[in-house]
Amino acid sequence: MTAPLTLRMHPADNVAIVANEDGLPAGTRLPDGLPGAGLELTEKVPQGHKLALVDIAAGEPVRRYNVAIGYALRDIAAGSWVHERLLQLPSARALEGLPMATVPAAQLPPLQAYTFEGFVNADGSVGTRNLLAITTTVQCVAGVVDHAVRRIREQLLPLYPHVDDVVGLEHSYGCGVAIDAPDAVIPIRTLRNISLNPNFGGEVMVVSLGCEKLQPQRLLPPGSIAIQDGRSPQDGPHTVCLQDAHHVGFMSMIDDIVASARPHLERLNARRRQKVPASALVVGVQCGGSDALSGVTANPAVGALADLLVRAGATVMFSENTEVRDAVDQLTARAATPEVAQAIVRELAWYDQYLERGRVDRSANTTPGNKAGGLSNIVEKAMGSIVKSGSAAIGHVLAPGEKLRADQKGLVFAATPASDFICGTLQLAAGMNLHVFTTGRGTPYGLQACPVVKVATRTELARRWHDLMDVDAGRIAQGQQSIEQAGQELFELLLDVASGRRTWAEHWKLHNALVLFNPAPVT
Ligand code: CA
Repeated sequence: MTAPLTLRMHPADNVAIVANEDGLPAGTRLPDGLPGAGLELTEKVPQGHKLALVDIAAGEPVRRYNVAIGYALRDIAAGSWVHERLLQLPSARALEGLPMATVPAAQLPPLQAYTFEGFVNADGSVGTRNLLAITTTVQCVAGVVDHAVRRIREQLLPLYPHVDDVVGLEHSYGCGVAIDAPDAVIPIRTLRNISLNPNFGGEVMVVSLGCEKLQPQRLLPPGSIAIQDGRSPQDGPHTVCLQDAHHVGFMSMIDDIVASARPHLERLNARRRQKVPASALVVGVQCGGSDALSGVTANPAVGALADLLVRAGATVMFSENTEVRDAVDQLTARAATPEVAQAIVRELAWYDQYLERGRVDRSANTTPGNKAGGLSNIVEKAMGSIVKSGSAAIGHVLAPGEKLRADQKGLVFAATPASDFICGTLQLAAGMNLHVFTTGRGTPYGLQACPVVKVATRTELARRWHDLMDVDAGRIAQGQQSIEQAGQELFELLLDVASGRRTWAEHWKLHNALVLFNPAPVT
């Protein structure tokens, strides 16, 4: 057996995490130099789970990250396994009386020498991939668009070798929805902004059914977007409408979509990668299938990456409302200005109300896999999740589906649900051109519109899923790599991926569906 290894997040913590791959058996004595040195385990503790370092009396706080992640439901002896059934969830931090922009901004020296090879767009944004996207107004057209995409891929893409792929932006919205409900603004602007993602080169083509509630002019109002094909912006983007009388039979629809794609492909194909500063990166970070090592290895490495990106002048977005809610006071304190702190409170208060409408709260977030991986509850998960944001001041806040402006650089809180696909979809709408995803339990997650770099929290997962995980952050838990080294390695990998190096998800063409966040009613 390898030597016992336990990790404590903060000197004031009364629990430590077992890092050993197979956990530690009862009777293990912790060697000198580790938290809890000399202590004997009273029972087996699995990997990623918590071990009591001292006797914890019923009602006393269990502290990790120097935060009370719960209160002991009965006496817990030193050396025992502290699992979720022993903990009572603390109540959520109220949204009043929070520290607002109280932490002085960390002075992070700028990083200038880093560049990547990207596709520069007319609006100044930069793509990491050169993709043709077909925007759809309604789910009804999905099957037709899917067929057309297959044909474009087979027949046209070989003629346009500098275009990476063609992507149908399929979704479940567009009809059968209360489109005038106040919250309908969220799915509608999400779809609009996704079609303007930097990886699509500013080329917008639309397929509509004809009778749907989300009419093309409502999705992309005339004049709202730049048109690259010489048409007046007032005409809106070129749209294929399946119910138009001139479509006779299915093949005429397919022929029309394929023919519409040609001029877009011509323009995309004429583009070449060129050297741009790392400040053109817009990186979305999130986690999924988390375990207790997420907050020890992969998420801190992503936090170190976030600091490097901010120093390089890039944009980095963190999200996942229910996973930051319990750390709201840390976020508002780290806001660059009181206005930014107010915006954080506004978004999280709105989300609290959204959950209340469904008669749940933030505790609905944790999954059976989280708990099996050692995460007792949402407080513990949140403390491990928020470290992905690094240490920079939070400069901007986006509501769900909003798009970043060109001047919104640095660290951004993009308020989204924690659901992997919904968070990824909303980060695409915000303008993400590269995605970093950490996982402990393992997920094959990918997106068609944007490369996803997946970071495993444990070496065992990285080994078992050797052709799905791009990075092994488990080396941090084994003392083989510091958090700073892991962050630097990730940063350099990101520049390579941004320049065209394929991720495992791209290699296997794995991608999840776009999932719109629709808090409004359906009809
Ligand atoms: Ca997630």
